Amino acid sequence: MGVKTKTGIVIFLMGLFLSSAWSRTEKVKNTSILKKHAFGKTEDGKEAHLFVLTNKNGMEVSITDFGGTVVSVKVPDRAGKLADVVLGYDTLPEYAAGKAYFGGTIGRYANRIAHGEFTLGGRKYTLAKNDGENHLHGGIKGFNKVLWIAKDVSTKSVPSLHLSYLSKDGEEGYPGNLSAEVNFTLTDANELKIEYRATTDQDTVINLTNHSYFNLAGDGTILEHQLQLTASRFTPVNSTLIPTGELRSVQGTPFDFRESNVIGARINQDDEQLKFGKGYDHNWVLDAKAHGKPALAAIVFEPKTGRVLEVWTTEPGIQFYSGNFLDGSIHGKGGRSHQLRSGFCLETQNFPDSPHHPEFPSTVLHSGAKYNSATVYKFSTR
Ligand code: BGC
Repeated sequence: MGVKTKTGIVIFLMGLFLSSAWSRTEKVKNTSILKKHAFGKTEDGKEAHLFVLTNKNGMEVSITDFGGTVVSVKVPDRAGKLADVVLGYDTLPEYAAGKAYFGGTIGRYANRIAHGEFTLGGRKYTLAKNDGENHLHGGIKGFNKVLWIAKDVSTKSVPSLHLSYLSKDGEEGYPGNLSAEVNFTLTDANELKIEYRATTDQDTVINLTNHSYFNLAGDGTILEHQLQLTASRFTPVNSTLIPTGELRSVQGTPFDFRESNVIGARINQDDEQLKFGKGYDHNWVLDAKAHGKPALAAIVFEPKTGRVLEVWTTEPGIQFYSGNFLDGSIHGKGGRSHQLRSGFCLETQNFPDSPHHPEFPSTVLHSGAKYNSATVYKFSTR
């Protein structure tokens, strides 16, 4: 074979290789499992985005880097029909102005800290009192109202979005530069996995969660949903929803969800704790001992559509909030008004107000130590 012929063959083979590589990249692009769209600008003119994660079953989750917010979760019912099962807004300004924390990543400290102050290392820190006399969900401009830095960390077939945010020393009154990361992954088992990591350069307190409001029917109230919680105790509260410190048995109370029960069945009972919360708005003490791997915390079943939501977490507690402050005044996606109890939250967390309760698991993150937390929202049908 002459040199010319050999060179010709080599060039031909290289061409073949390059064209197949090209069509491979094209394929990944066209079937993209993570798509990025513009989502408006923040008040200070920064571009926000909406990321759409899709799995092989057609389940679709949209997340914005504004507030690390889950904007929509579209999952099939038992007939295969998709519906969006979380409450939220259509636009960024509504998220920026909103007070319901729809879908947001909550930090630096999810839930309440009494009187908006705590002492750490002998120093007193003052936080915003944005819930009556207490501090709630990280303050006026919590992690749900800031722009996070987004990175696509998907593998070939599993979409995954990485968000990071540097919360500066003194932000909302908290000590230490806290470097926070959240990873959202959508698996082919219809799981939305949320993994949190953080480090700090000064001792601080931390409690991160996601504040999605679910309605597995897609609309109406959540009163017919059936809930099961793997918790034998809960933390009763005072009239401002601050835990008293007691870990109370659920036995014989409307807080007993050890066996699946309809949410609406006991919600209006003459019970002091239900009155304080205007319904369920409490932290349950999960029975599983954290071993770094998520354990089953909750199962919710919606009988009309057959949709099931399981919540798995590494956290010691879960706030079940039955949407008691929704009153029809909030207009969400598509202009729909959100009525009383039209969504529920299952916020995996450390116990509320832990900085004032040395008997609760500690929420202190020491300088140089690593914070790790994981929660899985898994969808199926029955
Ligand atoms: C709290 C509620 C609060 C709601 C705000 C929940 O996590 O437990 O008391 O009203 O967040 O949307």
